[in-house]
Amino acid sequence: MPLFTVKMRKFTPILCLIWIAAGPTAAAPEQPPRLVLQITVDALRGDLPQRHLHNMGKGGFRFLFDKGLHYSNAQYEHGNTETIVGHASLATGTTPALHGMVGNIWFDKDEKRLIYNVEDSRYHLLGSNADVDKSSEIDPTQRVALADGRSPRALLTSTFSDELAYAYNSEAKIFAVSVKDRGAIPLAGQTGKAFWFSKAAGEFITSNYYYDSYPQWVLDWNNNGPLSRFSGKEWELMKPQQSYMFGTDDDQPWETDFPGFGRTFPHAWGNLGDKYFTTLLTLSPAGDQITLDFAKALIENEQLGQDAVPDYLSISFSSNDYVLHVFGSSSLEAEDNLLHLDKTLADLFSYIDKTVGLEHTLIVLSADHGSPDAPPYLNKLGDKNAHYYDMDACMQTVQDGLDQGPYADIEGLLGQFAHPYIYLDQAVLYEADLDTAAVAASVAQLVEQCPGVNAAVTARHTSDSPARNPVLEKRVWNNYNARRSGDVYVALDSNVYVNDFDGLIVATTHGSPWNYDTFVPIFFLGKGIEGGEVSRRVTPYDIAPSLSARLGIRPPSGSVGNPLTEVLED
Ligand SMILES: [Zn+2]
Repeated sequence: MPLFTVKMRKFTPILCLIWIAAGPTAAAPEQPPRLVLQITVDALRGDLPQRHLHNMGKGGFRFLFDKGLHYSNAQYEHGNTETIVGHASLATGTTPALHGMVGNIWFDKDEKRLIYNVEDSRYHLLGSNADVDKSSEIDPTQRVALADGRSPRALLTSTFSDELAYAYNSEAKIFAVSVKDRGAIPLAGQTGKAFWFSKAAGEFITSNYYYDSYPQWVLDWNNNGPLSRFSGKEWELMKPQQSYMFGTDDDQPWETDFPGFGRTFPHAWGNLGDKYFTTLLTLSPAGDQITLDFAKALIENEQLGQDAVPDYLSISFSSNDYVLHVFGSSSLEAEDNLLHLDKTLADLFSYIDKTVGLEHTLIVLSADHGSPDAPPYLNKLGDKNAHYYDMDACMQTVQDGLDQGPYADIEGLLGQFAHPYIYLDQAVLYEADLDTAAVAASVAQLVEQCPGVNAAVTARHTSDSPARNPVLEKRVWNNYNARRSGDVYVALDSNVYVNDFDGLIVATTHGSPWNYDTFVPIFFLGKGIEGGEVSRRVTPYDIAPSLSARLGIRPPSGSVGNPLTEVLED
């Protein structure tokens, strides 16, 4: 049940233009917030907070519903709904076509290999324990990360946080924290500082892009045994099992069964020092609790929000995403994790109130993408079309087709498939003096013969070949960056997913252009912002320019979103 009556508000573009044209001096509030707190919940589909609200407490999501401004129809408009793409879009207010983060991995045409979005060999990780965990079985993107260093330099446009730093001549303090490097680094922009959790080290780490050596408080925090409270313990249900929507469905065959962790409650983390201890923490509410602990230490030690110059803190909570991959978004684990997250949010808001004051803080909460359901779960409910997808088989079909066509004599035309793109081998194309666009069109036609493929869209697709599926193709085009995107974008049918990551089978995977992956919640909460629900369609690209407009500073350099009028009204 919505707690608010829906208020229909009229968009007032003329007033809005005047407001922006007036510039920072005239537009800036007399007292800007002391802290802008940008919260991201990884993979929080737009309907999920409402779905489980009846079991939640008072201070977390319910507080946002009661006091905040809720946009209940926010959709990304890019195709590859992966983590870095969404986080970069939240940070920059624009699409991957412009911010350049087209996927968690892409084929780098200069280095001629797959690269990971925030890897950068020029900036090594600080500390001897902080090697990138290449053996991670949960996080396949880390396994292709050949360079251990990290930086935001692959981000091609400025972030709200960058603009805040520029507006106040670097006096604004800018920080970002997450379990995932790709959940922290884009939000800190080029000018801020990012910290993320190393599963290998069991510590929050950073790179020498940001610091020459760790601040003392970070060393102290890491040395203080922050994980020991979970050692030998288990993830337990927060409430009586019968009170959950999925209370009778704990053991479902499509859930991933990690040895020791298992498919049913309670889930044991093992002991500090065990090989998978830190990984299992991140597959549970503990990952978010550790993130909050670290963020609190950051707020205290960096003295965020203590003076008139606005500071910025981004916190991205990753557990929801890991839990849905392993158990599915309609699972007892996902449901309980959200209740724990709700408590973590309540704890965060209460801490902010004590240290900075909620009246001095502008809060925005959203997600980097939504989340699909596991196909066997959908099958169980009657959808017989949902299924897992074997992309290797499709690539073989394409290769067989090429072997029978005009390019039969040319070996190695098909380069890499890196979701969602097929990259043709540029060297082979050059050697054979072939037209890339013509080959890509042939490949796309062959891809579309694979059952389960909805559309294969070529990079050179132009206005003289009108879109067959305008919504989907717009999302594909918003994902297209000439330097990084592949030659053919493969979009599978709705509720059809690849779930095999180099042999690790998971329950479900986001990354599609369909609404279950593009639909996210947006909440704003701050002094002077009237609460309520807005059902008008908006995009998460609107968030960064809204923050800029609210603070009376320049919008990010590539932002395509519109400042939300409800956020600007006092
Ligand atoms: Zn994500």
